[in-house]
Amino acid sequence: MDKVTRIGVLTSGGDSPGMNAAIRAVVRTGIYNKLEVYGIMRGYSGMVDGDIFEMESKSVANIIQRGGTILKTSRSNEFLEPEGRKRAYESLKKFGINGLVIIGGDGSFRGAQTFSKEFDIPCIGLPGTIDKDIAGTDFTIGFDTAVNTAVEAIDKIRDTMDAHDRLFVIEVMGRDSGYIALHSGIATGAENILIPEKSTDIEGLLNALTEKERRHKLVNLIVVAEGKFGGANEVAKVIKQRLPQQEVRVCILGHIQRGGSPSCFDRLVASRMGYAAVECLLEGRYNVFVGILNNRMHYTPLDEAVKKKQRISEEWMKIVKILSS
Ligand code: ADP
Repeated sequence: MDKVTRIGVLTSGGDSPGMNAAIRAVVRTGIYNKLEVYGIMRGYSGMVDGDIFEMESKSVANIIQRGGTILKTSRSNEFLEPEGRKRAYESLKKFGINGLVIIGGDGSFRGAQTFSKEFDIPCIGLPGTIDKDIAGTDFTIGFDTAVNTAVEAIDKIRDTMDAHDRLFVIEVMGRDSGYIALHSGIATGAENILIPEKSTDIEGLLNALTEKERRHKLVNLIVVAEGKFGGANEVAKVIKQRLPQQEVRVCILGHIQRGGSPSCFDRLVASRMGYAAVECLLEGRYNVFVGILNNRMHYTPLDEAVKKKQRISEEWMKIVKILSS
């Protein structure tokens, strides 16, 4: 493969707070190292359509603190097909781009892996996802902000919950991943946390609630990941059937968890990872995704990244149980 001289950067799939900080780091590190840097709009869609423009240092001024992504993001069905990926390659060739940085989740990494196998363009992935569901990194860009947004919202709900002696079932994001539910649930003192990675003993949950009712413990907080058990509405329905006298309220936090100004931590993670992505392209460490493990940069081949999911240790569940007893 030729030496990388002109790189493209894009954000793909679900957005996450801190993507802008990552774009900024890629652009500025690239320019510092005398690379030309191009922005690709709307993820792989912009690559297929050739919606590409040259970026300068000032293109990324005043964005480190902003949520969302200045490059926009999307899901591209065309890129799923060989024909679409060929068109994407032709667009890159037209602009002379010979290295790519993809900021996105595991789906985007799958796309990058397929593309890098088919064409001679090295790809570097940066984990931009609020779900923190990618093995090979302790952190993903956006998780810290999303979980703090959830905690802030749940704290507010807890005030009203406490005032009225109510049971609340709160749904947080995470279709296949329970990290937001787990972290926000522990941090807000939830009695129960339901996540897709662990089987749920719904009978056990109902028995515990019945026992708590007998002890006149009326305030209960249950945090559910959206992908678990049909979400908060379904969980509330089952509780209502068993404990009809309980006042059960549901709150679905939804998209507020994706937005907002990234936390200091996410800005740091994004800056370190963006810098490292360009270093990878300069050093010839191709087709990997950048992570941080034990506070060190860690590089996982894209092939492996798409196979493994981050696992949740049993100890977390033990902590939930003990601290809410
Ligand atoms: P995320 O990156 O947030 O997990 P998606 O799963 O929607 O988001 O993936 C983003 C995009 O990556 C998809 O819209 C598609 O264009 C591309 N992609 C995902 N899987 C593949 C694949 N197996 N081959 C090619 N492209 C893929």
